[in-house]
Amino acid sequence: MPRATKIVATLGPASSDREVLERLLRAGVDVVRLNFSHGKAQDHIDRATLVREVAAQVGKPVALMADLQGPKIRVGKFAEGKVILVGGQPFVLDAGRTDLGDLGGVGLDYKELPRDVKPGDTLLLNDGLIVLTVEAVKGEQVHTIVKIGGELSNNKGINKQGGGLTAPALTAKDMEDIKTAMSFQCDYLAVSFPKNATDMEMARQLANVAGEPYRHKPAMIAKIERYEAIPHLESILKASDGIMVARGDLAVEVGNAAVPALQKKMIRMAREMDKITITATQMMESMIQNPVPTRAEVSDVANAVLDGTDAVMLSAETAAGKYPVETVEQMHLIALEAERAEDVQLDADFTSKHFARIDQSIAMGALFTAHHLGCKAIVALTESGSTALWMSRHNIHVPIFGLTTQPRSVARMALYRNVRPLSMESFTDRDAALAAAERILVGRGILRPGDTYAITCGEPMGYPGGTNMLKVCRVG
Ligand code: PGA
Ligand code: MN
Repeated sequence: MPRATKIVATLGPASSDREVLERLLRAGVDVVRLNFSHGKAQDHIDRATLVREVAAQVGKPVALMADLQGPKIRVGKFAEGKVILVGGQPFVLDAGRTDLGDLGGVGLDYKELPRDVKPGDTLLLNDGLIVLTVEAVKGEQVHTIVKIGGELSNNKGINKQGGGLTAPALTAKDMEDIKTAMSFQCDYLAVSFPKNATDMEMARQLANVAGEPYRHKPAMIAKIERYEAIPHLESILKASDGIMVARGDLAVEVGNAAVPALQKKMIRMAREMDKITITATQMMESMIQNPVPTRAEVSDVANAVLDGTDAVMLSAETAAGKYPVETVEQMHLIALEAERAEDVQLDADFTSKHFARIDQSIAMGALFTAHHLGCKAIVALTESGSTALWMSRHNIHVPIFGLTTQPRSVARMALYRNVRPLSMESFTDRDAALAAAERILVGRGILRPGDTYAITCGEPMGYPGGTNMLKVCRVG
């Protein structure tokens, strides 16, 4: 069995040259995340081009996810790249500062901070590792005292405990970055800090307009990382194609201890609603420095897999860590092992369900049939990838192959749990298409003579949402 859970890796200085990128993809990366909190537009365009080149060369479907910075409060840059803050020392966050930061203070990307805080507030930096107490606000300057010190480097995030940022989810920079991301037609667009469904609808509309010249509409991912988003999970899910359990910011906004239960709830809700989930942040954090993960990290990755996440994500581990390739290799092994322990409860999954759509019923029928017959594979001939998406919302120890004529569906399906996308040429004749699909799977060594598999397609061929046929075949 190939690995079902997908791996998202963030690119950065440790992973942006061709050789490392190639090793990352070969080690198992399915989705590459371009983090718009760092770097210039041209850097992202260059990286996107490189990723697609290397993916083509490796012969592997890889999706590109552009991740917008959002209204996150971030510190500016330091003259030395970083400083070491010590408990008890004063530190000034200065929205008016234009030169590089030092031990006494630093500039801010988010200019509204002085108006969002008051004396006594607690600010958490770098995902909560550094704690500052606000002493006074003087004009554009927020004067603080370091409560818990540590290393603070360029562009690290700041959160206010308990939420309460006034900034809208989409900043002027995000709107520019959406245009950049659409210029290379990112497959997924992740929106940071949405508060509600309206934020996601607005982002989708901006992306669709910017994508018009390329006839491209990206899939939208809502990063759940704000206190205010939790009561609106259902409507945010409805307005999105998927969510990211963005544990870095979420943990500081809602408190560390609330995150594991929220992660389970979000993944459960998303799967029920046929949406995607990415579990993110600090999954293999210690591997930024060390060649092996901690026991706790191994359990964390395995538990996210058992929760049913589509993907586990790496941030600094691959962007700036010492062992980017080793981290992916380890994650791959942990996911694979956890998947073997996953429960298949298809009968129970279906008892309370009602499927009114023909294509969806066929997809569920294929799962059921393949499970009971012990098929080697489920094959979905799909235009948009939605048949494969429905199939992938249920645990089953049979790999799903999404065969499509659409290059964009190939990339999009790269994130779906237990789905392996493959491209195929288009056919008008059903039997010719079925024969071609079998040739592809046999040619790749996925199916051998004597193997049975379940295959779905639509007749007439080539219409999205047209799946209306299920066939069980044996390779002759
Ligand atoms: P970020 O989002 O890395 O862009 O902050 C992920 C998170 O908050 O967990
Ligand atoms: Mn975040």
